[in-house]
Amino acid sequence: MQKSMDIVGLLESIESSDTDGVPDRLSNLLDGEFNPIRREQGPGMTLHTNPLSDPGESIFSQLLERIIQGYALKLEDGTEESIASLEILLDGVSDSILIMSPAGKIVEANHTFFSTFGYDRRELIGSPIYELLPEGYRGAFHERLAEFSMHGNSPHSATPEDILAFRGQLRDGTVVSMDCLLSAIQLRGEPAVIALIRDLSFDHALFQQLKETREHYVALSETITEAIFRLDDEFKIIFANSGVKNTFGWEREEVFGQPFSILFPPEVFSKHENEFRKYFYIDDQDRLALGLKRTFEFLGATKHRGVAPMEMSFGNSKDQRGRTLTCVIRDITQRKTLERKLRHLAFHDKLTGLGNRDLFNEDMSLLLQSFELEEASRGIVLFLDLDGFKHVNDTLGHDAGDELLVETARRIRVCLRERDTAYRFGGDEFVVVLTKIKDSSDGVVVSERILMSVADPYILRSKIKNSGSRVSVGVSIGVAVVPDHGRTIEDATKSADIAMYCSKEEGKNRYTIYDPAVSAKATERWQLEQEMKTALGNGDFKLLYQPIMGVDGRIRGMEALARWKRLDGTDVPPSVFIPIAEDNGLILRLGDWVLRRACYDTRRIHDKGFQDLYVSVNVSSRQFEQPGYVDDLASIVRSSGLQPSRLKLELTESTIMHNTKDAIKRIHEIKLRLPGISFMVDDFGTGYSSLAYLSQLPVDALKIDISFVVNLAERQNEKVVNAIINLGHILDLDIVAEGIETKEQLEYFTNRECGSMQGYFFLKPSPLEDVYALLKRETGAVAKPDDKPPKGSVQPAKIPASRARQPRIRAS
Ligand code: C2E
Ligand code: MG
Ligand code: MG
Repeated sequence: MQKSMDIVGLLESIESSDTDGVPDRLSNLLDGEFNPIRREQGPGMTLHTNPLSDPGESIFSQLLERIIQGYALKLEDGTEESIASLEILLDGVSDSILIMSPAGKIVEANHTFFSTFGYDRRELIGSPIYELLPEGYRGAFHERLAEFSMHGNSPHSATPEDILAFRGQLRDGTVVSMDCLLSAIQLRGEPAVIALIRDLSFDHALFQQLKETREHYVALSETITEAIFRLDDEFKIIFANSGVKNTFGWEREEVFGQPFSILFPPEVFSKHENEFRKYFYIDDQDRLALGLKRTFEFLGATKHRGVAPMEMSFGNSKDQRGRTLTCVIRDITQRKTLERKLRHLAFHDKLTGLGNRDLFNEDMSLLLQSFELEEASRGIVLFLDLDGFKHVNDTLGHDAGDELLVETARRIRVCLRERDTAYRFGGDEFVVVLTKIKDSSDGVVVSERILMSVADPYILRSKIKNSGSRVSVGVSIGVAVVPDHGRTIEDATKSADIAMYCSKEEGKNRYTIYDPAVSAKATERWQLEQEMKTALGNGDFKLLYQPIMGVDGRIRGMEALARWKRLDGTDVPPSVFIPIAEDNGLILRLGDWVLRRACYDTRRIHDKGFQDLYVSVNVSSRQFEQPGYVDDLASIVRSSGLQPSRLKLELTESTIMHNTKDAIKRIHEIKLRLPGISFMVDDFGTGYSSLAYLSQLPVDALKIDISFVVNLAERQNEKVVNAIINLGHILDLDIVAEGIETKEQLEYFTNRECGSMQGYFFLKPSPLEDVYALLKRETGAVAKPDDKPPKGSVQPAKIPASRARQPRIRAS
């Protein structure tokens, strides 16, 4: 009936409210005016306006009037027809109709009345109405009835004020709120009262629901910072929430009735207008299938801030009154700024600000795509690697190294045209991409410019030297033409990289244009270097040990020697991989690993009862000169649990002579940090050790270079060997002869009181278990249950007993 119509009307009013989203009428209702129960002061009855019924044309009062007319007719003519028509009228009404005596005795009522209260007709006719009222309401109802019977009124004059609010008690005990319109009539000459009663429980529940909905709605639309708009079919704004102020700077009153286009710069709106309109006519559930996006990003026009990036999503376009379109718009300036920053961070090198490898990959893929469209066009990739950067980094410190890289990046950029781009791949590797070139001569021109620019000396601040240092470096450049020298990013980069290797091999500080015919050797080395980068992580490096024997023929120590087995199973000798690792810096990680492994392995052997055994570890100059080397060394040794007195470090003569003063300082520092540790000069005799320095070197032993031992038969070599042995005696340094392969060599050194010997004659560099097996055989120790059997048949060498003497191993 009418109720449902009214509710719909109210819901509509909420959605299309003009100022705060809630129409005044509803607002009043929700604030309690409608709720008769709230208005009541204790049990009693209140007259009030029922907003659902307009006073002037109240259906309520019209109905009452018709009933009364009908009743009067029935009473007057008493015909079947008039009685039937009255019953039809009464039973067709969904409100309760009741006729009572002034004392409240129920005389007549319709079907709704009985069914509402839950009684049969027989049970109620003749009973007092008060039995249907809760205790507290009876007195007031009685008074009201008496008043009506006294003064009466006519249905014509029934005003909204005559509506009586009361509560009825149903048969099951439930108390419900009801509205009642009373009218005085004459019944067989006696005064009577006719009442039209409406059960309000449904209306109350509905209003409660409406109230909650409104609260949710207000909380939502006024809490979110996004702007919410509703648009009519002319694309005019018919609703806006307070988020409009936050997003666009407009007061919402300012945008009501305005065209939607005021929120956009004109060109943006005209570009998107057609698409926006599609959202108006196409409902939510169909949009995706028709390829309409969920959200739009566009530039919005704000009141004071000019244009700003916005994101918009459209709600459904259906509405009770037809079509309206709801949209939510949020300002995404912050998000866009953050995205830009993140993108910049993700694609640029933090130090130099140049693009990084990821950006290079993106740019290259676009470039390669463009070649597919334009067959004739060409580009150039230059691969650049600084010459001498590592030295600057190692000697002047990382800050100076960083400064050098930043300045180099600036110089490279200056050498390029607007459309060319420079990238930093990490370390001292830079890449330049030249687009739209004529031919490879463009690469030559740019390379020459970069070579000249980098050749200018750099003034770097050095924390280590505590002053500004003038430094000169060079750059090796590889030039590859794309797509001729590579149709994929990998191939083009590889070609430029290989050409750069060629520049290095040819003497550095130059450029080379990639040429497959002459690059075979460089390609091999390039391949090796790529593999080496992952080999350490893959566990492809192994550590072997070679025993160092005292003249008594017993093992005194062992030298740790690294080995690399490539993926194809071939062994790469240290003479090949150590120089490459020194070049590309991998020696630092490799050296760390060797030291850690060697200390750990030796400690395991100590744990099995051979505590006197020392281990000798080779240290490359790059490692030794690294600023943090002393700290790293101390921490590795300590964490391994190895006594420092059981560790010897081998430095080649050239490492020490490279910067003797610093080397001496550093050795002292290490000896202070790790008391008991000792140093050996490896490959002694190959360099040009100054005797003056040698006497000051805080080293403990000299290792005669293998070349003198192997060629001992040559008179010249023998002289050098004897001189070294004598020098050792004079300077009180232990002497180790390496490369002992024969009995003769063994005897030669034993006779000359050379402290220790090492060579294939005793054992080739072998797995740890083999050295351990040898140790056990020497002492005749019984193997513990967890001892692994030695591999192969390793025979300890016997030194003639008569010649054997105690070695002079100095306590350091
Ligand atoms: P080195 O430190 O002088 O090591 C001695 C080299 O002589 C080892 O070669 C060893 O296998 C070899 N050798 C030992 N006894 C004999 C013998 O009786 N006859 C002959 N012909 N050779 C013998 P390897 O292992 O090939 O190592 C070569 C060089 O590579 C080493 O010379 C060392 O300078 C370097 N190296 C090896 N491992 C490492 C490491 O872990 N770190 C560093 N920095 N360098 C290492
Ligand atoms: Mg060595
Ligand atoms: Mg050596």
